[in-house]
Amino acid sequence: MRQKIVAGNWKMNKTFEEADQLLYDITKRLENLPSDVELIVCPPSVYLELATDIVEEDEVDLKVGAQNVSQFEAGAYTGEISAAMLSSMNMDYCIIGHSERRKYFGETHEALIGKVNHLLEYGIQPIFCCGEVLEEREAGNHFDVVKAQISDSLFHLSYQEISNVVIAYEPVWAIGTGKTASSEQAQEMHAFIRNLLKEKYDEDLAEVISILYGGSCNPKNAAELFANPDVDGGLIGGAALNADDFLKIAQSF
Ligand code: PEP
Repeated sequence: MRQKIVAGNWKMNKTFEEADQLLYDITKRLENLPSDVELIVCPPSVYLELATDIVEEDEVDLKVGAQNVSQFEAGAYTGEISAAMLSSMNMDYCIIGHSERRKYFGETHEALIGKVNHLLEYGIQPIFCCGEVLEEREAGNHFDVVKAQISDSLFHLSYQEISNVVIAYEPVWAIGTGKTASSEQAQEMHAFIRNLLKEKYDEDLAEVISILYGGSCNPKNAAELFANPDVDGGLIGGAALNADDFLKIAQSF
């Protein structure tokens, strides 16, 4: 059985007070959630301790993830946050390879190899994002693009290591645009990714890796997307900034 996951990527949003309120709104309603869904919040790094403190004090079943980690181990890298630091703050997950980081911060597959390696070394589960831009889909290259992203950044990992990675397929043309991939497009790509894992590792491994869909997922379309056999949940951006919407999505399995 694959883990069902709904993860909220808050990106660069919310003041301290707003973040506190959103965490409060989410945590006070967690008992209505199905117990087999792992709910994750990924606030900006300055609010990670706020999130882990609330989770610890209220003893709620909510996981906390970071939105980024340094590719480097430690040292003179001003402004960076290492996997060791995240681990010392009890981080469960960390998003890497998000299209916004690839586009605005030049995150390359070499950097991603460093990030994934350090996260796994410190026991943090990477949520590895991949996905094509619109021109690549229109040119029919979307499968090749996603294959290269996954194989370049993840296929050096051992069987044991990759079993701790979560993959998020996020077609870039669907992120923050209100344009969701159709249920068929999502299933087709998720099945393709699972098959890549099967070919590189084996069927058992491919069957246990959670593959999330991301890109304008909301309470209205989540149920249809999550009903697909290879869609194990979602990485949610805009709709994760509102507790009602976020929790409705988590109830959509
Ligand atoms: C994201 O940024 O990971 C994302 C899926 O954003 P949105 O849901 O806003 O499209």
